[in-house]
Amino acid sequence: MTLTTHATIGAVIGHAVGNPVLAFIFGFISHFIVDMVPHGDTGLSDNFRIHKRKRKRAVAYVIIDAIVAIFFVLIIANTRDIESVRTFSWGIVGGVLPDLIVGLFEVTKAPFLKWFIRLHFFFHDFFVHRKGDVPLYYAIMAQVVLIAYLQTKL
Ligand SMILES: [Zn+2]
Repeated sequence: MTLTTHATIGAVIGHAVGNPVLAFIFGFISHFIVDMVPHGDTGLSDNFRIHKRKRKRAVAYVIIDAIVAIFFVLIIANTRDIESVRTFSWGIVGGVLPDLIVGLFEVTKAPFLKWFIRLHFFFHDFFVHRKGDVPLYYAIMAQVVLIAYLQTKL
């Protein structure tokens, strides 16, 4: 999923549980569950891993994704009376952290992260490998709708 989706779900979870530690834990767990829904990025990660020439596209996608997520979180934080900034923040941190670890592994290839990468992609690819992926365009549209709905819960 996009980082904005993970961040928004983390924030909503934080709001719901009302405790920073639980917000982090459930936000973190939510990442794996939400990633199981096919969301159109198989082609992008194949581009990154296999077709070196198309790497730039995959990297650009991640850059755009990250900056949009930052903007979105800032907009929410600046326009709402967030009940607890702490649970809001820790929910978001938990929600996006797994993808930070994936990114760190791509950069460092640190062997001690391998188990986590396997775990992440076990969930991420669970249905995609069995049923195939959906077009990225539709997946992003669906996430925009989901985010529009979820932000009303904050
Ligand atoms: Zn992920």
